[in-house]
Amino acid sequence: MHISLEKQVALVTGASSGLGYASAKALAAAGAAVVVNYRSQAEPAEALVNEIREAGGQAVAIEADVSQEDAVDAMFAEAIDTFGALDILVANSGLQKDAAIADMTLDDWRTVLDVNLTGQFLCARAALRQFARQGPRPWVSRANGKIIHMSSVHQLIPWAGHVNYAASKGGVDLLMRSIAQEVGEQRIRVNGIAPGAIRTAINEQATQGEAARDLLRLIPYGRIGDPQDVANAVVWLASDLSDYVHGTTLFIDGGMSLYPEFRDNG
Ligand code: NAD
Repeated sequence: MHISLEKQVALVTGASSGLGYASAKALAAAGAAVVVNYRSQAEPAEALVNEIREAGGQAVAIEADVSQEDAVDAMFAEAIDTFGALDILVANSGLQKDAAIADMTLDDWRTVLDVNLTGQFLCARAALRQFARQGPRPWVSRANGKIIHMSSVHQLIPWAGHVNYAASKGGVDLLMRSIAQEVGEQRIRVNGIAPGAIRTAINEQATQGEAARDLLRLIPYGRIGDPQDVANAVVWLASDLSDYVHGTTLFIDGGMSLYPEFRDNG
């Protein structure tokens, strides 16, 4: 089965590293023109753009802090200016500021909520406004726009020491499903991806050496994920092969959300 996103335009936030980087690259390989959003890491973002262009694709890097309304709106305006339309948003940017609840500062709380939840709201709103402005593009897709929210298994699994992160991802779940309920009749598809443990910068400590062995006990399928595992799902969710998938979160976690502690009878 061949997936083509030819003539479609995708914007991926936080695409200078990890899951965003792999997703942007995979979307470009499937034929989409790609906007590579980054916040501070211009170098890898530009390197990815060059790589995509050298392979015959189209890409542009745009700096923006997704938690800032003006910056998000300016990024979408520049993206539309560059490629003329938008078909796919991957709202991927996220971060952690971990602390025990008693030690968590208001700044730690706000920063994570601002980026992980408000950032997703601002980007989804900007994408939906553009989908409404441009109207149907049936020659590129059956849907009038597709939004993929990068969530986490922690939209479901409580996470001690990370209450800001878990609360933000729980919020992403209901943000995604509420938007899906609201815009479905406009033929706009909205879904989420909930990765488990995927080897990227966000969890570098937890996925190396001894810590990685501990982590594997939480993963029934027995391996830590690669960014490509998530990128493959992004491409599928962005394509018409998933045209009847709407308002769903796809868990890509090797079974981490299956309560593996109960494997031996609890
Ligand atoms: P990462 O740290 O490599 O990527 C996060 C990206 O978000 C970075 O590129 C960073 O620059 C960007 N970002 C942070 N603040 C930003 C801001 N204010 N504006 C714009 N961009 C900003 O880690 P990752 O694993 O690739 O994470 C990507 C997403 O996947 C995050 O939302 C994360 O919560 C989620 N996730 C990752 C895992 C995992 O195991 N790696 C598991 C569950 C969920």
